[in-house]
Amino acid sequence: MILYGDYHTHTKYSRHNHGKGTILENASVAQNKGLKQIAITDHGFNHMFYGVRRKDIPAVKEEILNAKEVTGVDILLGVEANLISSDGDVDVVEQDFEFLDILLMGHHRMVKMTNRKDYIDMMIANWFGSPYAPSKERLNRNTTAFLKALDKYPIDVITHLNYGCPTDTLAVARMAKEKGTLIELNGKRINFTDQELEIMASEGVKFIVDSDAHSPERVGECNNGINTIFRLGLPLSQVVNIDKLPKFAQKR
Ligand SMILES: [Zn+2]
Ligand SMILES: [Zn+2]
Repeated sequence: MILYGDYHTHTKYSRHNHGKGTILENASVAQNKGLKQIAITDHGFNHMFYGVRRKDIPAVKEEILNAKEVTGVDILLGVEANLISSDGDVDVVEQDFEFLDILLMGHHRMVKMTNRKDYIDMMIANWFGSPYAPSKERLNRNTTAFLKALDKYPIDVITHLNYGCPTDTLAVARMAKEKGTLIELNGKRINFTDQELEIMASEGVKFIVDSDAHSPERVGECNNGINTIFRLGLPLSQVVNIDKLPKFAQKR
């Protein structure tokens, strides 16, 4: 089994010392571990503390070019965008697609939302509400937000689904499948049940295993997802970055 690439890695461009390493350091670790490709996916622009800034993108591009040359690892430029409204808005704009090779999206705390109501309904309600026993209203609101985001944006990967924002997992996964979006098996946390995963797999949902590394040494550490796949006997053919170069389905 070969892990072709790791498509969720953070660098120091996730600000305030949230991401620890440089792009070259992430790429060097990937090279040492035999990965062919990585994506640099710092936190989205609306994250109040950790978000990458649009004005840093030219520097990110330049560092990527250099790191590719030094390591021979192919590097995609991406972002881990944030869900910013109950109407499925995400913190990317049309012009961002000029530089984005890959778009990841997930729910995060401390994100600037589109309006005060959504700050209360999506951010505060999920922050302080139970992760395990959400009210039906909250579950529906979260699920609808993800479904609308999948419909509105060319999202390649949903990151750590349900982490801090419980949804109807299967409804989101089915829409993801329909839209050509991958469900991430995150290197640190998987917030759905074995049964949900088995149903997703049987329905043809596609997965990606990623590290979600915030420091260079964790790049390529995807065992959390890989072990889950082997434990449940999920078909490797549905895991896009094991033994093959992943094809991201979104057109932009
Ligand atoms: Zn982070
Ligand atoms: Zn995340």
